[in-house]
Amino acid sequence: MSETPYYISLDEAVSIAQKHPLPLELETVSLDEAHGRILASDLASKVNDPPFDNSAMDGFAVRFEDTKTAPTILSVIATSQAAASLEPLTISSGEAVRIMTGAPMPNGADAVIPIEACQVDGDTVTLNQPSKPHFIRHRGENIKEGHIGLKQGSHLSPQSISLCATMGYNQIPVVRKLKIGIISTGDELKSPGESLSFGEIYESNSYGLSGLVTSLGHTPIRYPSVVDSLDALRTQFNQAASECDLFLTSGGVSMGEWDFVRKLMEDEGEVAFWRVRIRPGSPPLFGHWNETPMFGLPGNPVSSHVVFRMLVIPYIRASLNTTFPINRIVHAKLSTDVRSTNDCLTLRRVTLQSTKEGFLAEQPKHQGSGNIDSLSSADALTLLQPGQSGKTGEWIEVLLL
Ligand code: AMP
Ligand code: MG
Repeated sequence: MSETPYYISLDEAVSIAQKHPLPLELETVSLDEAHGRILASDLASKVNDPPFDNSAMDGFAVRFEDTKTAPTILSVIATSQAAASLEPLTISSGEAVRIMTGAPMPNGADAVIPIEACQVDGDTVTLNQPSKPHFIRHRGENIKEGHIGLKQGSHLSPQSISLCATMGYNQIPVVRKLKIGIISTGDELKSPGESLSFGEIYESNSYGLSGLVTSLGHTPIRYPSVVDSLDALRTQFNQAASECDLFLTSGGVSMGEWDFVRKLMEDEGEVAFWRVRIRPGSPPLFGHWNETPMFGLPGNPVSSHVVFRMLVIPYIRASLNTTFPINRIVHAKLSTDVRSTNDCLTLRRVTLQSTKEGFLAEQPKHQGSGNIDSLSSADALTLLQPGQSGKTGEWIEVLLL
């Protein structure tokens, strides 16, 4: 291990991993299948939105000149309803057209009087308020034909999908989903639902990691957990490397005698770095097995989750040239002391309360890296820089979970 970068900062670790990006492949899917995916190229609008000037209100389309001083009496010559006629209507001086929200503005009309301000009497309408040249949605005011509405790398949220449809797309170029293998390691692990013998615990990491992978829009492949044996790990690594774009292990990467993931990677794989200056979660390892990238995550449940967020997410984000998921970092004032460290980025679990002054961050639970309850009930992780005090009253940055 002498030449392998060892116990490095998080930034260094992320930049080493990024030198070995995951494959970025594209596919085209229907609009309905595009939810939650990452857009693979810029999308320029195929149309003007709106495609024609139309009314923002139910009311009467009029000539502004005719209606500057109330009351005005105009004759109603027609009705403009959304998509009801092929040609635009036309009005002249002294005329009005009854108009519905979204219906095309008649030629010659440059104002809409809302229905509430009108009194209709047979074929005439009395406008009880002076008009303003408003309540018109102008052609192309939302987006112009040819204008880039969504940039490559955008996350296709429900609102972005709506925009794709508005721009005229029914097929969307997206980044192919990654297949991410998850391998838990440890003799003591039993699947939830089985009965536990003395010394055994329920395997929980793979479930949390699968959830994280799914939340990024990729496909988790959970393998059965593997006992602490080099042969068993080798077999499982071979399978994962042949089936996945990336695989994650949990457990077995610390300095102990039984840390076989690290041993196997050192002896038979390629290790790009080992150990990162974050707390919790300092043991991670990154490297390649049969040319497939892999992260060896720590076994402690909080650590495996935190390392995924701090290391694996930035790696995936950079590989796929996307800003998703964005790091949501806010400032918060500590309402309890939080123990920091001198050499690590310290990621304690805090709950947040919104106050007039801003967020208050409290660390209510014991912070053992095995205590998944402290993570499950937390709103955020502290981003305490090495040496930062973490005393009550201090304003710090926190990463929203
Ligand atoms: P290790 O890094 O293998 O020494 O594991 C550190 C701690 O995490 C030990 O207490 C393990 O029992 C626990 N652990 C390891 N893997 C898992 C897992 N998949 N689910 C829950 N706990 C685990
Ligand atoms: Mg273990």
